Amino acid sequence: MYLLGSHVGMSGKEMMLGSVKEALSYGANTFMIYTGAPQNTRRKKLEELRIEEAGQCMAENGIQNFIVHAPYIINLANTVKPETFEIAVEFLGIELERTAAMGSKILVLHPGAHVGAGEEAGIARIIEGLDKVMSADMPVHIALETMAGKGSEIGKTFEELKAIYDGVRYPEHLRVCLDTCHIHDAGYDIVKDYEGVLAHFDEVLGLDQIAAIHINDSKNPLGAQKDRHENVGKGHIGFETLLRFVSDERFRNVPKILETPWIKENPDDKKSTAPYKEEIERFQNAAKPE
Ligand code: FE
Ligand code: FE
Ligand code: ZN
Repeated sequence: MYLLGSHVGMSGKEMMLGSVKEALSYGANTFMIYTGAPQNTRRKKLEELRIEEAGQCMAENGIQNFIVHAPYIINLANTVKPETFEIAVEFLGIELERTAAMGSKILVLHPGAHVGAGEEAGIARIIEGLDKVMSADMPVHIALETMAGKGSEIGKTFEELKAIYDGVRYPEHLRVCLDTCHIHDAGYDIVKDYEGVLAHFDEVLGLDQIAAIHINDSKNPLGAQKDRHENVGKGHIGFETLLRFVSDERFRNVPKILETPWIKENPDDKKSTAPYKEEIERFQNAAKPE
């Protein structure tokens, strides 16, 4: 079985217990959650998250690890508005504590967007922000996500992530979350040159730094810098290439997480359903008999 799941919700009465149940309903053996709404910083108290019951449910069902994603509004790269940076730093610190309390060792973070100040200034600001929240003995790793390069996003090249590693005081607590849609949209040709892209990554950052992989197809062609996820096998990346990531022995112990869009039967339907059960099944069924 591949270590494969999806992002899941966390809400209502069940909170994190509900997240685990949702993951199980998809046949997942790992998952990713936001500690609250990705667009804001309102957070429920830790005591209300039902962490213990969630952990018990995970143990009973053989789920050993999961990852947490920091909200998009954290923008450490903002050099233009000092308040935005300060809020980002403060909130990132809180998210790190929550990630640890929930029992995960990986917090995925979008490096940030420089909003016009340029890559160099943005990267310097990110380093400054990370140094404010990272410590020698931190129990959680921050996994910088590879980005599509939409707008002024930083992290569209492996070298930009490497510059962050090189700048921070505790690079040993950094990791990378590789997003297949994002690197494809950023111009890395994983379809025609999977091994070449990975060799390049290995040279710049090291494959052992990959702590999570987001498995998404892309609605746009190579290098489009758009970041619009598509369902597995329906986009410009395709099932075969995504399966290479999912089945790659080097990533055996790395959680692979689907963030593909929910599906509507008809375009006018109000309700949409999660595609994850079918998508996970398709990958697991493609596993070579041992
Ligand atoms: Fe992300
Ligand atoms: Fe992602
Ligand atoms: Zn994305």
